[in-house]
Amino acid sequence: MRIIIVGAGIIGAALADRLVHDGLAASSPVQITVIDDHPPGSGTSGTSLAWLNANDPSDLAYHSLRVAALRTWQELAAGFSNPAWYRPVGNITWATAASARKRLAARVNALAAHNYPARLITEAQLQHLEPAARRPAPEAVIAHYPGEGYADGIPAVQALLDRASRAGATVLKEQVARLISRGSQVTGVRLASGQDLVADVTICAAGWRSPILLATIGLQLALADATEPRSPAPCLIATTTSAPGMVTGLLHTPDLYLRSTIGQRLLLEASDLDTDIDMTTPQPHLDELAAELLDRARRLLPGLNARIAQAKRCVRPLPTDDRPLIGWQQEGLYTVVTHSGMTLGPHLARLTSREILADETAEVLAAYRPGRF
Ligand SMILES: Cc1cc2nc3c(=O)[nH]c(=O)nc-3n(C[C@H](O)[C@H](O)[C@H](O)COP(=O)(O)OP(=O)(O)OC[C@H]3O[C@@H](n4cnc5c(N)ncnc54)[C@H](O)[C@@H]3O)c2cc1C
Repeated sequence: MRIIIVGAGIIGAALADRLVHDGLAASSPVQITVIDDHPPGSGTSGTSLAWLNANDPSDLAYHSLRVAALRTWQELAAGFSNPAWYRPVGNITWATAASARKRLAARVNALAAHNYPARLITEAQLQHLEPAARRPAPEAVIAHYPGEGYADGIPAVQALLDRASRAGATVLKEQVARLISRGSQVTGVRLASGQDLVADVTICAAGWRSPILLATIGLQLALADATEPRSPAPCLIATTTSAPGMVTGLLHTPDLYLRSTIGQRLLLEASDLDTDIDMTTPQPHLDELAAELLDRARRLLPGLNARIAQAKRCVRPLPTDDRPLIGWQQEGLYTVVTHSGMTLGPHLARLTSREILADETAEVLAAYRPGRF
């Protein structure tokens, strides 16, 4: 079976790795080609906070899928001898406003009731876990989730693709101009160079750009349009220069989310600043917003001595109902696009590989088919 995967982000890379290995056990040989017009992982996956979590208990089926995804990450990392790009280091969230405190306490109770590792901690416990962090206001409610963590997108994607390549997959740096079809069957892709590549199955793993690819054969995908004014998809992520020893796990405070990176830099994000960003925001304004992120980080970490190294606009692939879009869209065409793709990627690869190779149906994905709209 010839399979083309468009997109070498976490979704495409995890799928390539899974398909090539599941394919070795299949009755007929599987030939995988991954195509991306940018370096692997440099799309959304490389600019993601990449918090691996199942932190929202409000939709229990989705919560369970994410819990399973955390287990899949553990297994995946064990297969790579617990690499530096997988960091199951826990997450701390705190809230100070009265309504947010109430919501956070209720969330911890609900998660703990479902046996998810979640507990409220004291200021002294926070100090012990994150000694460089300034204490929050005395009334703050502080939650600790020891089972969560993060993955660094670019090295994770690269490691998955390297392993897939060693097992026989091919990775091409090319732009896919369009899908090609015969009747109702998708039969491959046309590259921007004009060359056609034929496949039995083409997988759309093109992240936020997926609707553009699917539109080439008249298909739609219910994803927020990043180019619309006030779209929630474009956002800002800032990286500092080296800041060793500043934080151990992830921190979610009322005005800043941050974590360390594989190179001991800090990654900074704040959702209130994202409302100011669209696809045309000029770099000087991104830099101003990054300076605000750094001010917030310095207030949180008084010993922080770093500067902003990079302020980058990134784009979230945001399904309009915030749930994954996974499944056959047409004969020969399978789509996997989701927010929270860093958390879900390897687990979705495990589930979808069976749908693609063995023609099985993963019942757990039934609620996430692209045709549900
Ligand atoms: C600021 C931010 C914070 C986030 N925080 C979290 C979080 O805490 N936890 C979490 O789980 N998720 C988080 N996410 C979401 C998560 O990062 C994404 O869901 C995930 O990275 C999507 O992966 P992907 O492989 O689908 O997309 P991408 O990584 O964007 O990969 C798609 C690839 O397709 C390629 N491509 C597209 N079109 C074409 C074409 N025509 N030809 C060739 N190549 C093409 C692109 O170049 C790209 O490399 C966050 C995202 C952002 C932006």
